Amino acid sequence: MVNIDSMAIKIEHDRPGCIGCSACAGVSPDHWEMNADGKSDVIGGTKRDDEWEEKDISDADYDANMQAAQSCPVNVIHLVKKETGERII
Ligand code: SF4
Repeated sequence: MVNIDSMAIKIEHDRPGCIGCSACAGVSPDHWEMNADGKSDVIGGTKRDDEWEEKDISDADYDANMQAAQSCPVNVIHLVKKETGERII
């Protein structure tokens, strides 16, 4: 567990850039799933007009989503500090 205020962290998923490798869903199946269109979805996420997905995450969800982001071969999963917009990954 990372000791940060991850209530102030959100996932940003560049879904248009997803190549559908399924690595995120493999390492973090409680938070990521594959869609019938061949790309992954953030479970419980919200889709923006630009087709990116977003979801606020809690401390308990931070490590699993960091593992998903680190597993992504095309780096389309980001964890972002909500206050500053800074990308942690
Ligand atoms: S790991 Fe990245 S490219 Fe692979 S399915 Fe997940 S978001 Fe898409």
